[in-house]
Amino acid sequence: MSTFKDNFLPFALPEIGEEEIADVVDCLRSGWITTGPRAKKFEDDFTSFLGGSLESVAVNSATAGLHLALEAIGIKSGDEVITTTHTFTATAEVIRYFGAIPVLVDIDRSTLNIDIDSIEKKITSKTKAIMPVHFGGLAVDIPAIMSLAKKYNLRVIEDAAHALPASFNGTTVGSFQTDATIFSFYANKTMTTGEGGMLVTRDQKIAERARVMRLHGMDRNVFDRFTGKTPGWYYEVIAPGYKYNMTDIAAAIGIQQLKRVKIFQQKRAQIAETYNSLLSDLPVTLPPMPLPGDTHSWHLYVIQLDSNLKVDRNQFIEKMFESGIGCGVHYIPLHEHPYWNKVFGFQKEMFPVSQDIYESSVSIPIYSKMSEDQTHQVIHSIKSILVD
Ligand SMILES: *Cc1c(COP(=O)(O)O)cnc(C)c1O
Repeated sequence: MSTFKDNFLPFALPEIGEEEIADVVDCLRSGWITTGPRAKKFEDDFTSFLGGSLESVAVNSATAGLHLALEAIGIKSGDEVITTTHTFTATAEVIRYFGAIPVLVDIDRSTLNIDIDSIEKKITSKTKAIMPVHFGGLAVDIPAIMSLAKKYNLRVIEDAAHALPASFNGTTVGSFQTDATIFSFYANKTMTTGEGGMLVTRDQKIAERARVMRLHGMDRNVFDRFTGKTPGWYYEVIAPGYKYNMTDIAAAIGIQQLKRVKIFQQKRAQIAETYNSLLSDLPVTLPPMPLPGDTHSWHLYVIQLDSNLKVDRNQFIEKMFESGIGCGVHYIPLHEHPYWNKVFGFQKEMFPVSQDIYESSVSIPIYSKMSEDQTHQVIHSIKSILVD
């Protein structure tokens, strides 16, 4: 079954090896396919990967993890949560699950991350939390966010859907002293479980609450109940929870992917380096770079086209597609979407940087399965569209 046209280079592809396939088959044969020993192992491996002294809670999407994190810190209707307009709708939709109010902030042109200087102006007596997004895998200056959070007594939940692995000033994303950090294992992310996510936290109470709420608000997990270690029929429902647990089938993929996640990152960093050097003479702005010594996950490689070129951004994507290369746009900012602008009155004039980046930017393919030839094919197509 072939999904893609011959010779078409898709915008993103997962890198699934024989190890993942074998572990999924073992899981299927084992008799335990929902949350169980593999999900537990995946959590333990994830904790070790991040260096320990934190709790990892596996869930069936990052969206679920973000929702659980906001629930665990007690977000209520009418509370305000500050985040960036330049993100995927999942970051803000979870705020609405509580009837809370997303307060959107513009981005900083030098990082494409939330403009930290603009956050303080948006803080009111109703503000409860800040949700920074590590855009494209370039880590946010979390220490700066944390000092604001301390000053105003706010909680911080990191949307790290793009940021495995990434670091800021030597600290790995996931290890900052924030309330929780959520990673995504969606099919096109830096590692995948098909669908899945991980909530990590240093706060025992948040971890416990997320574990209960990810499975119907039940106080003991099913695996403990049905493995024959105890009679196991009894449980208590202590809250109206959700159905957000990760299956062992997904965890089997995750365990294997995590072993190679650093290699995947190195391959993407290599592609980024090739792009950086061979696109630098073209009429485009290259993506912001990490501080020396820091890790950029390179989930996205976003270029901005100069104005006054012979093609506009949409035509550029069309021509790339005709030449056999898939591109994306990250993101159509939240303020451009009907729901967010009609209900909350967000307008593009309020977010000039995000709007400008949106109108001029293109995300070009960057993933570990790409060959050197394919990287050069992308560069060649960009050159022939922009300069030849
Ligand atoms: C992908 C993504 C999410 C949601 O992740 P899922 O695992 O698909 O729920 C959230 N925020 C950002 C910025 C994303 O890119």
